[in-house]
Amino acid sequence: GDLTALKWDKAPCRFCGTGCGVNVAVKNGRVVATHGDVHAEVNRGINCVKGYFLSKIMYGDDRLTTPLLRKKNGVYAKDGDFTPVSWDEAFDVMTEQFKRVLKEKGGDGIGMFGSGQWTIFEGYAANKLMKAGFRSNHIDPNARHCMASAVMGFMRTFGMDEPMGVYDDIEAADAFVLWGSNMAEMHPILWTRITDRRLSHPHVKVAVLSTFEHRSFELADIPIVFKPHTDLVMLNYIANHIIKSGKVNRDFVDKHTSFKRGNQDIGYGLRPDNPLEVKAKNAKDPGGGEVISFDDFAAFVAPYTLEKTVEMTGVERGWLEKLAELYADPKVKVMSTWTMGFNQHTRGVWCNNMIYNIHLLTGKISTPGNSPFSLTGQPSACGTAREVGTFSHRLPADMLVANPEHRKHAEEIWKIPHGIIKAKPGYHAVEQNRMLKDGKLNAYWVQVNNNMQAAANLYEETWPGYRNPKNFIVVSDAYPTVTAQAADLILPTAMWVEKEGAYGNAERRTQFWHQLVNAPAQARSDLWQLMEFSKRFTTDECWPAEILAANPQFKGKTLFDVLYRNGNVDRFPVSDIEPGYANDESTHFNFYVQKGLFEEYAVFGRGHGHDLAPFDDYHRARGLRWPVVNGRETRWRYREGSDPYVKPGTGFQFYGNPDGRAVIWALPYEPPAESPDKEFDLWLVTGRVLEHWHSGSMTMRVPELFRSFPTAMIFMNPDDARARGLKRGDDVRVISRRGEMRTRVETRGRNRMPPGVVFVPWFDAGQLINKVTLDATDPISKQTDYKKCAVKVLSA
Ligand code: SF4
Repeated sequence: GDLTALKWDKAPCRFCGTGCGVNVAVKNGRVVATHGDVHAEVNRGINCVKGYFLSKIMYGDDRLTTPLLRKKNGVYAKDGDFTPVSWDEAFDVMTEQFKRVLKEKGGDGIGMFGSGQWTIFEGYAANKLMKAGFRSNHIDPNARHCMASAVMGFMRTFGMDEPMGVYDDIEAADAFVLWGSNMAEMHPILWTRITDRRLSHPHVKVAVLSTFEHRSFELADIPIVFKPHTDLVMLNYIANHIIKSGKVNRDFVDKHTSFKRGNQDIGYGLRPDNPLEVKAKNAKDPGGGEVISFDDFAAFVAPYTLEKTVEMTGVERGWLEKLAELYADPKVKVMSTWTMGFNQHTRGVWCNNMIYNIHLLTGKISTPGNSPFSLTGQPSACGTAREVGTFSHRLPADMLVANPEHRKHAEEIWKIPHGIIKAKPGYHAVEQNRMLKDGKLNAYWVQVNNNMQAAANLYEETWPGYRNPKNFIVVSDAYPTVTAQAADLILPTAMWVEKEGAYGNAERRTQFWHQLVNAPAQARSDLWQLMEFSKRFTTDECWPAEILAANPQFKGKTLFDVLYRNGNVDRFPVSDIEPGYANDESTHFNFYVQKGLFEEYAVFGRGHGHDLAPFDDYHRARGLRWPVVNGRETRWRYREGSDPYVKPGTGFQFYGNPDGRAVIWALPYEPPAESPDKEFDLWLVTGRVLEHWHSGSMTMRVPELFRSFPTAMIFMNPDDARARGLKRGDDVRVISRRGEMRTRVETRGRNRMPPGVVFVPWFDAGQLINKVTLDATDPISKQTDYKKCAVKVLSA
């Protein structure tokens, strides 16, 4: 083709939390190619197979281009058929339904489910609309299914969210330990960096731990397949080994850590304030925990002997000893990585705390190569779900709705009256499904996720709520997903470079992109939808009369006026947009909405360790890692010389906690929520595959990716298959106490299953494995355990 007609620009990849940079080629208003951005530090010019085919995700044949409302005889009906309508009609019906619920129940009847795929601007605008506009804290991101345990782990140990390290650790580490993480498929570009480090430095060791053998095992020097849920035992064994072998870094431990015991299941990991944030006078420490001594901790982990660990985990003692020595040996710099193996666990928060225990006992933290690193699944799990605070208990910059000072601070930044934000945390993801089913939530808006495919136990817990006749369900999506088809109203949505955006990846890197093409026909961004919808409500309909009486200047104003035309968000003119770029939202609202939202949001984080750079800097840089202070990004947090918040002479400061110390938690092994028995005799593990992103709603529409992995299948040990009279390719029923699904047996291929364990990926909308999974959640983080439930497999 005529290469001179291509216009190239930069953007982060749309898919995983790795946050690779891509170059995007546009021709005649259409994205026609992408390649890895050689200037992007994360991926240095390469992409994984999903990234290479990014240009095709927007052009599936069934792209939604107009709102669709269920109608019968010309009017909305719950049992009607989807009928194309105008935006006006869509919003009219949606407004009528939301107002009906507002009248009956106030904001408490309204809920929203978003994701770590919202842009920062969208998540922030949604958070405001719900928590301040409708006065409902029932907003949660699907990051609840993904990262909530990591968040609570950070908060309980460090008092601040997100990793202290960066990807640069990869090139400095001597050993990598993957805890239940299959980076070769889930974070492939980081895996290429680890592979490069391992293969070019013969002393480097890689340990891979999982409940079955997957592609990452191909690089493993220490391959460990353990019995499901016994990672808790191994973690305490390693701590015990470090202590017993005299390898504790006493200087570091004495200066920078404290010890606590306490397994209280306090929801959401609420805890006192970061001392650098606004202080709550009467905040108790609901994170709980009784202060103990080092000796108490040593006594606590002492029963986790090598013998006991071999017995409980089923792992050979030689591998366990080698693993423990990687951590214990003071000469070895260790990077630990994890994602869903730890987080989707009924004790996911503890797993996170316990891996920090090991790094803290040895002082292997916050220095290049010494890095307990919580990876993320979604492109903006950190940037949007966590930093913006779209969780039902959070506000931006690690603040909490339950904390009166935090609410006050947010109300001041948002320029709304005191008392608007409610104190009680809202319903989390799994609870939202139950509340829809029980008719407690009646107006519900889903954006950027596919929960009818992703939620556990979905036919018992999720589907009934969407189809409950009392409820009005709106789903914004680019494609007619399973979730969209369960809705009453579908809103067609702009994707990725069809709008201006910002994501925050797993290493605290905030990355921006420009709108490069227009969305098709009537498709509009989530941001446009949220702001446009907000014009249809007034404060009188949403806020208490007594607050309005005391603040008459707000009376009769639209939510749009008070939330977005508030002197902050609307202060930048459209002419500030870099010349040559379209910006549909800003043009529509007549101010630079993304810049206004970002600059208002950034006020939350500046001055206490969450600092973001000025808006315009991000369009110039290939991302910057926060805190960004005086124009400099931060690589290793909590370490003197690297983190601007650490006082000279201290070495390290875990300043998220009032005493500047990180907490080492004494936490026990606890059995899983469900285990195989005589009838349901196999462990089921679910997860992703390299070729597909999450539920496959984008990647299944890319012909090359579809063809490379067209349907789900059940990976089984050949002996397990034979014992059931099955062979490769047979059709089977996978049955649990909650439901069943059909799929096909695979006994070879990329996963080698031990006896008693099966794996089914969840990307295939035609084979919904989540009809089978268990919706047991971690009691602290409320995150679901998708990695363990009991099933039986029968010939179909
Ligand atoms: Fe990089 Fe993840 Fe995109 Fe692959 S899917 S190119 S690893 S960001």
